[in-house]
Amino acid sequence: MKLSKPKYIFVTGGVASSLGKGIISASIARLLQARGYSVTIQKLDPYINIDPGTLNPYEHGECYVTEDGTETDLDLGHYERFTSIQTTKNNNVTTGKIYKSVIEKERRGEFLGKTVQVIPHITDEIKRRIQLLGTTKKYDVIITEIGGTVGDIESLPFIESVRQLRYTLGYQNTVLVHLTLIPYMAASGELKTKPTQHSVKDLLSNGLQPDVLVLRSEHPLNADIRRKVALFCNVTPDAVVESIDVPTIYEVPLRMHAQHLDEVLLHKLGLEAEQEPDMAAWSAFVERVKNPSRRVDVALVGKYTELPDAYKSISESFIHAGAVNDCKVKLHYVNSEKLTLENVAQTLAGMSAVLVAPGFGNRGIEGKLVAVRYARENDIPFFGICLGMQCAVIEFARNVLGWEDANSSEMEQTTTHPVIDLMEEQKGITAKGGTMRLGGYPCLLAKQSTAAEAYGTQNIAERHRHRYEFNNDYLAQFESAGMKAAGTNPDTGLVEVVEIPSHRWFVGTQYHPEYRSTVANPHPLFVSFVDAALKYADEHGTK
Ligand code: GLN
Repeated sequence: MKLSKPKYIFVTGGVASSLGKGIISASIARLLQARGYSVTIQKLDPYINIDPGTLNPYEHGECYVTEDGTETDLDLGHYERFTSIQTTKNNNVTTGKIYKSVIEKERRGEFLGKTVQVIPHITDEIKRRIQLLGTTKKYDVIITEIGGTVGDIESLPFIESVRQLRYTLGYQNTVLVHLTLIPYMAASGELKTKPTQHSVKDLLSNGLQPDVLVLRSEHPLNADIRRKVALFCNVTPDAVVESIDVPTIYEVPLRMHAQHLDEVLLHKLGLEAEQEPDMAAWSAFVERVKNPSRRVDVALVGKYTELPDAYKSISESFIHAGAVNDCKVKLHYVNSEKLTLENVAQTLAGMSAVLVAPGFGNRGIEGKLVAVRYARENDIPFFGICLGMQCAVIEFARNVLGWEDANSSEMEQTTTHPVIDLMEEQKGITAKGGTMRLGGYPCLLAKQSTAAEAYGTQNIAERHRHRYEFNNDYLAQFESAGMKAAGTNPDTGLVEVVEIPSHRWFVGTQYHPEYRSTVANPHPLFVSFVDAALKYADEHGTK
């Protein structure tokens, strides 16, 4: 940290949701980092759930898990992948968390005599949470992304808190970036600025003047449009930045830099911007992503295949690992509910590797077992993550050990072979929110294992999100039949990695490696898995 007090960048969105505020925030962070500033990003989510842990992925996409075991919004995954910073429970605040702490204070009697209200009590709590990361004295710049769209009723307390903070922290110490959409009217061949003007008016009516406008558009914006937006929205013309659709999200920081967004922000914050950011390694990575030498086809078997955001960290990990291997990993989302013994060969034809995804509950489980079996019997590289690893264990128990009713007690409580079972400490727990085994745990890998070879070390730490575990009562039988515990928790003996050494690449991890893959540090298991897929493709002439 080089500043004595942190500066704050707020990022809001208008006109429509899903414009990519998370990517813009992460891009700004990456550029400021490249200029030598220490940065962190937090997301404020206006929904009332305490965290997204209990949400169906179709609601908000993947639930991301931080090192300290918090279930968070998937944007935190982007923050980590872009910047390699580790986020914590303080980087994602929901309306639910805000209200919970205010109500708890009220019950403790901390507001005795007072009526507890949205203003000032809720807004005070929001302001406290926004500034919490600043109290660590680790960051020069704190970027705060406000979820939702300006104008939503539920966003109002957040917007009002930003207004108050800008006033008390000083306008020279804060900057507001507003992201909007410039729609294109095909009939008249025109780009329209009116929704942006209205969205800025909305902000103004809440007492907030944006300093920078990032305009999402499918077409390039000409100088006229920029001037018009600048004039009608009270911003300087250099602070109108276009965010056009790009082939990869990793190109966004480069596009933002080309338009001097980092310079404009630093200037508005009164910070020195002489030194150009060093984005050489980043640009090289983007080049490799955009121009790979070859392509490899990988099946991702799961039940949320209609919404690829449900597997965001996995698909991004494949982009990182593909760049290392100079190839594009083409993911084929295979709906496990439709996969059967009869159609598996046809469905997975041409695939050079199979990944079985994490998940919960019974639905689609039999299809996942079919996919594991097909990969195992045909020596196709196989990667099982969390539930995917548990499926690998169940499939092995049924089809190799011959225990026909083997199952996870999550799926079938009365099975006589609960090869995956509830952890002891989970047995008394009934509440669903935040009660799984969550966050980083150490793992010791076996010397002779695919995993240890990939990581280049035996001592690792990875993030978890599950209730069930490999049942160690059966370990000896699995090992003598050819499935090994290749990684265990050194403190508890819980099995964290299973492998089949006679197979070319068969790894199941109880943990989620995808949460730790970043542009700067692609995950070694994904890198090794993609390498195995390429070798398989070479041998089988699949692509
Ligand atoms: N449902 C399984 C469990 O709770 C796996 C969870 C997951 O895949 N994240 O253990």
